[in-house]
Amino acid sequence: MRHVAIVGSGPAGYYTAETLQKADDIAVDVIDRLPVPYGLIRTGVAPDHQSIKAVSRRYEGVALTDNVRFVGHVAVGTDVTIDELVALYDAVILATGAPNDRPLDIPGADLPGVIGSAAFVGWYNGHPDFAGLNPLLDAPGVAVIGNGNVALDVARILAKTPAEFAGSDIVAHARDALGASAVRHIHILGRRGPHQIAMTPKELGELGHLERASPRVDPADLPPEGDDALLEPGMRKSVTHLRSFAANPVAKPVTIDFDFFAMPIGIEGDGRVQRVIVERTTLDADLRSHGTGETYAIDAGLVISCIGYQTPPIPGVPYEHGRGRFASDDGRILPGLYAVGWARRGPSGTIGTNKPDGARIGEMVIEDIGRGAGKAGRAGLDALLASRDITPVTFRDWRRIEEAEVKAALDGNPREKFTSIEAMLEAIGR
Ligand code: NAP
Repeated sequence: MRHVAIVGSGPAGYYTAETLQKADDIAVDVIDRLPVPYGLIRTGVAPDHQSIKAVSRRYEGVALTDNVRFVGHVAVGTDVTIDELVALYDAVILATGAPNDRPLDIPGADLPGVIGSAAFVGWYNGHPDFAGLNPLLDAPGVAVIGNGNVALDVARILAKTPAEFAGSDIVAHARDALGASAVRHIHILGRRGPHQIAMTPKELGELGHLERASPRVDPADLPPEGDDALLEPGMRKSVTHLRSFAANPVAKPVTIDFDFFAMPIGIEGDGRVQRVIVERTTLDADLRSHGTGETYAIDAGLVISCIGYQTPPIPGVPYEHGRGRFASDDGRILPGLYAVGWARRGPSGTIGTNKPDGARIGEMVIEDIGRGAGKAGRAGLDALLASRDITPVTFRDWRRIEEAEVKAALDGNPREKFTSIEAMLEAIGR
C-alpha cells in the first residue's frame, strides 16, 4: 500500500484526492484543521452563490470512496508536524490555500474599522476564526479596495437586503448585522482603469439586479468604445457591463460607485476609520499605475481591503515571499513534499481551475512514489495522534454535523452553519 497525506480539504485537496483514489493501492488521508471539510467552498465562496458551492457534492463522492479518509480537527504544525507527516507518508501534499490577506501597506491601515477580505468573507460565511469580527456597519460610507471578484462579492453582500439572502447559507450573525446596517454608499476603489479589472462578467452583471442598490460608473473613466475590440471576450463582456452602468444610472437608496484610477494612499480617523485619502492615477505604457498628485477623500466608517491573499509560511518549508506561496518546482517542494492549488500557484483562478491542477499534481505524485517505500501511513498517524490524546473528526462525524446544520436552517435556506469549533464538536457529542 502507498500512503499519501493531503493537508487541506478545500477544492485543491479534494480534486487531488479524486485523481489519487483512482490509482491502485493508494490510501489518501485528507487532513484539516477544522472539524468540517471543503475549505473555501464552505467559508470563501459567497453564501448567495449556492450553485458554485454545490461542487461540494462531488468532493463528498471522493470522500466516501474506500481509500480516502477525512481527518478533521487536526492542526498540521501543532498537533502533528510536516516532518512527522513526511516520515509517515510516501507523499505529503500541501493544499492549504491562501487564507491570509495581503497586507494593505498605507498609513492608517491599522485603525479600527480597517479589515481584510479574508476576515470579512470569513465572518459572513461563519469561519470560526472570524465569527467575532463585528465589522463596523454604523456609518453610511464603506470603501472596498481592489478590482477583483472578491471586491464584487464584498460590495454585493454589503448591499443586499435580508430578503435577497433567501436560499443562501449566510450565517445568522451576518444576516442580522447586515439587516441593521447603516451602509448606503459603497465605493469600489481600483488603482487602474476599466480595462484592467480582474472581475468576471457574471459576477459584475449581478450588481445590476440588486433590490435596493445600483452600480455607478463615471463615463469619463471609460476608454473609447472601439478599444474594447482588443480585449479577450470575457473581459469585453465585463467592460460592457461597466458601460451599461455608466449609460443607465439608476436611482436606488444604496449606491455602489466604481472609483477607477483611484489609489488609496492613507486612512484617517479619530480612534477609528473616518475617511480614505485617494490619489488619482494614470497608467504608463506597461499599464502600471502612477499617482498624479491629485487627491480626494472618501467618507468611510469601514474599509475592506480586497487586494489578494497569501499562503502562510510553514517553518522549514521553502517559501516565495514576494508571491505569498510555497516555493516549488511546478508542485515539487522537497522530496516527498508537494503543493497544489493556491498554495502552489498563488491566489488566482476559479474553483474549477483547481481541477486540472489537482489532477496534474495527483498524477505527478503517483509517478514519483512508484510502489511506495513501505511507510506506516494511516496506522502510523493514528498511533501518533492517539499518543497525543487527539481524536480526529471523521467524515461520518462531519455528516452528523451537517445534518444538525440542515435541521437548524431557517426560511428554506440550505443550512445554518455552526460558527464555532465547540458547537461543531458538541453536535457530535464531544
Ligand atoms: P484578484 O483577482 O487578484 O484582484 C486583486 C485586486 O486588488 C486587483 O484589482 C489589484 O489591482 C488590486 N490590488 C492589489 N494590490 C493593491 C494595492 N496595493 N492597492 C490597491 N489595489 C490593489 O484577487 P481577488 O479578488 O482576491 O480574487 C482571488 C481569486 O479568486 C481570483 O482568481 C478571483 O477571480 C477568484 N474569485 C472568484 C470568484 C467567482 O468566480 N465568483 C469569487 C471570488 C474570487 P491591480 O490589477 O492593479 O494589481
